[in-house]
Amino acid sequence: MSGLGKGGVTSSLARTFAARQYSVTALKIDPYINIDAGLFSPYEHGEVFVLDDGSEVDQDLGNYERFLDITLTRDHNITTGKVYREVIAKERRGDYLGKTVQIIPHITDMIKERISKTAERDDADITLIEVGGTVGDIESMPFLEAVRQLQREKGRENVAFVLLALAPELSVVGEQKTKPVQHSVHTLMGAGIQPDAIICRSRRPLDSSVKKKVALFCNVPEDAVISDPDVGTIYELPFVFEEEGLPNSLCNRLGAFSPNPLYGPWKKYVKTIKAPGKLTVKVAVTGKYTSLRDSYLSIHESMIHAAAHLGVDLDLAWMETTDMADSVALEGTDGIIVPGGFGSRGTEGKIAAIGHARENGIPFLGLCFGFQLAVAEYARAVCGLERANSTENDAETPHPVIDLLPDQREIQDMGGTMRLGTYPATLAPGTQVRALYGGAEIVDERHRHRYEVNHAYVEQLEKAGLVFSGRSPDGNLMEFLELPGHPFFVATQAHPEFKSRLERPAPLFLGFLKAAAERARTRLKGKKATE
Ligand code: GLN
Repeated sequence: MSGLGKGGVTSSLARTFAARQYSVTALKIDPYINIDAGLFSPYEHGEVFVLDDGSEVDQDLGNYERFLDITLTRDHNITTGKVYREVIAKERRGDYLGKTVQIIPHITDMIKERISKTAERDDADITLIEVGGTVGDIESMPFLEAVRQLQREKGRENVAFVLLALAPELSVVGEQKTKPVQHSVHTLMGAGIQPDAIICRSRRPLDSSVKKKVALFCNVPEDAVISDPDVGTIYELPFVFEEEGLPNSLCNRLGAFSPNPLYGPWKKYVKTIKAPGKLTVKVAVTGKYTSLRDSYLSIHESMIHAAAHLGVDLDLAWMETTDMADSVALEGTDGIIVPGGFGSRGTEGKIAAIGHARENGIPFLGLCFGFQLAVAEYARAVCGLERANSTENDAETPHPVIDLLPDQREIQDMGGTMRLGTYPATLAPGTQVRALYGGAEIVDERHRHRYEVNHAYVEQLEKAGLVFSGRSPDGNLMEFLELPGHPFFVATQAHPEFKSRLERPAPLFLGFLKAAAERARTRLKGKKATE
């Protein structure tokens, strides 16, 4: 079922193979009919992740990229929508030569073709294929059938199946129950698939008697029943699987050599995340989807990466700005992040938070919408442009400092029509942003937006002290801004959170957290002095 952390399990398992020096790739199958994740409400599915090629995909692909340090494409996310669209287009072209077009074999063939093509293009030794959804769901049946056939065609020695199922423990009984796992295996076997390993999601590691029971009833060796207990950080999961012997048993099963795994600095960072330094740094993220932490997953992960490098104890607070009348709620905060967003709800609270950060020297990081609102705040408060705003929030604003580009005005179709994917920016010499990127002149970051800084206001904003430290190479689009004299007031039209890695945190997040840690240190000193 959903919510068990299939994405984390797939990524972690993939990482255990990568640690054995295999080249590894991962694909995600989403059985929903949507073509991609672009139009999902973040309430429903969590974050919409953006890839280099501009595709808007399931957030699990973000985990694959983070765990494997690879760059994926739109083809790594297969949905029912994409499969049917292609099959129907083929049918209309007459490619099926008069045949009746059916789920089996035409849809299943298309699924297999997409899997094989992508895996072959990646030229990986091992491809992980995560089949989303729940065993037994109508919509996932064609996909299960396709992967069953895949094993038949590629040979049992080349394809193994891993099932993730829930082993609940009711607090009153205090006993780990295996019935849901058993039923799940039975349903899977009904689809012709015998799992080679069964990962049981449970609060605690499985008792050995429970493992025995699952092994017996589900027809797998005991060492193929794997605990997936609660962990302090998702980055620890590969080590849990190592201890459980999962990678070894799967390598065995696939006739692959299983050398000693090499994790490099990954282990050290996991240790720091679990036992951080004494300095607690309080960071507030403002946003309207705060009820669902997953909506800002990549920002959360980017902050974890930065904290692991700085060895600080991160206290992330998610703040709903819809009702935030003033900035009182931000007292005692060492840094403020204003993330991406759409629509006007909650924007005045975010603008107030930005103003609070600017005036009080609180480190601020603005991402996409946060960048746009920082421009609006500066225009209002420093340039005296009353009611300056983005036309997205206020169509009647007298000062549209953020506006649609002409080529975005005519667009009717909402899916996949934003400015999406990787774009380069040229960084101005001598700026803070350029220093954060290690002096690089050109940087590539991913984008997902329709609105831009209105060129008509750039000169006025810069005269008033705002520095656009990065622009598109033709100079037309504003990509980064900063405020000289402020400890850290940086924002970008891009989404640098999509490219952060545990071993290589995104430079803006690292710089931001460093500045916030500095403030935390000063705050504590001040507190001590007054005591
Ligand atoms: N709503 C803004 C735009 O479309 C910002 C988008 C975002 O934050 N991802 O330009």
